[in-house]
Amino acid sequence: MKAEIIAVGSELLLGQINNTNARYISSGLAEIGVDVHFQTVVGDNAARLEDAIRIAEDRADLLIFTGGLGPTKDDLTKETIARHAGKQLVYDDAALRSITAWFERAGRTMTDNNRKQALVLDGSTVLENRHGMAPGMLASSDGRHYLLMPGPPKEMEPMFTEQAKPLIARLAGEGGRILSRVLRFYGIGEAELEHRLSDLLDRQTNPTLAPLASDGEVTIRMTAKTESREEAVALLDRSESEIRKIAGEYIYGYDDETLPSKAASMLIGHNLTIAAAESLTAGLFMSELAEQPGISAAMAGGVVTYTAEAKTAQLGIPADFLEEHGVVSEETAAAMASSVLAKFSTDFGVGLTGAAGPDPHGGQPGGTVWIAIARRGGTMETKKLLLSGMRNTNRIRAVKSALHTLIR
Ligand code: ATP
Ligand code: MG
Repeated sequence: MKAEIIAVGSELLLGQINNTNARYISSGLAEIGVDVHFQTVVGDNAARLEDAIRIAEDRADLLIFTGGLGPTKDDLTKETIARHAGKQLVYDDAALRSITAWFERAGRTMTDNNRKQALVLDGSTVLENRHGMAPGMLASSDGRHYLLMPGPPKEMEPMFTEQAKPLIARLAGEGGRILSRVLRFYGIGEAELEHRLSDLLDRQTNPTLAPLASDGEVTIRMTAKTESREEAVALLDRSESEIRKIAGEYIYGYDDETLPSKAASMLIGHNLTIAAAESLTAGLFMSELAEQPGISAAMAGGVVTYTAEAKTAQLGIPADFLEEHGVVSEETAAAMASSVLAKFSTDFGVGLTGAAGPDPHGGQPGGTVWIAIARRGGTMETKKLLLSGMRNTNRIRAVKSALHTLIR
């Protein structure tokens, strides 16, 4: 099934708002294996909307509209589609009741315009709007499907995820089941991974394999279509084990897992505690962990020691030690890690020091980072990174790499 998203709204064309609806819908469709081939944006203009519909009908089986379902004159999505498809608009009783009830509760008078919001395409499946007034709808005609949803994201997003997505999954999976699984990689670039998997990527059709790179990580979405869930799981398992044979050492997680979430569940699951001494990342490592629910069981605290003086005063690393080894060095990272471990009496102590860039720092070129992870009992793991990104990218990469070292 091929889908096209048509976002209706002149404010989108004027650059007043971002088209977050398209992004939200696209990522939801990817999860159920529906390909989005085009995203279109069109203003609140009936003639141009009709053009967009005609073009989309030539290249998609599922047309998804957002916006223009409201009560005002510029809201014309339903009317335009009805005219184009030769369908009637009829009142939906449930929607009319809920709109009427809303006005009664608010003690306001309902106008004909408001009533208009309860009009739906004849024969469509109506999607309840639990966060606003205009209902959504899914209509089908000549083997093509039309999904209409309101523009405001707080109304559209739950409507899509809770009601529309399951309906689409059923339509797309007619005569089969669609199941997808995302494998998450760290420590290997997209080009390198694609190169290693090129045979597999070329010949694989069920499941399909779709690689994607972002923020220094690569994911591969595997989507299988079969008669039953068991068969889909078996196909996914088989592909995953082929991929693991080739690049398994880079896989760190599945689906929505992230490096911070993996690190948090590792720590919490094993009853381990952590503290960090951060220089170039200045608290970013701890902040990433702090976003994880339940982390208070594992996260003791940390210190930001940006200057050499602070490393001496806060962590007790002697000035001549820093002088001798340099602030950006394996020795200093290790001293930070073991000092913060002792200070907070944790199972792990993390030390992060480096030159975020673009300028050199501590005698090292921009992008040089040392990571050290000390374990209670004395073992120490260190790692050097030579990063070439912008300053903040380098800081984020340093954090990711430290988290990855931790969970390995
Ligand atoms: P309403 O009943 O609020 O008028 P509507 O279905 O008619 O809803 P629009 O009038 O097109 O929708 O848009 C309402 C608001 O929803 C916009 O001002 C904007 O803030 C938001 N919105 C619309 N389309 C999008 C989009 N594609 N992405 C993000 N936000 C959007
Ligand atoms: Mg509107």
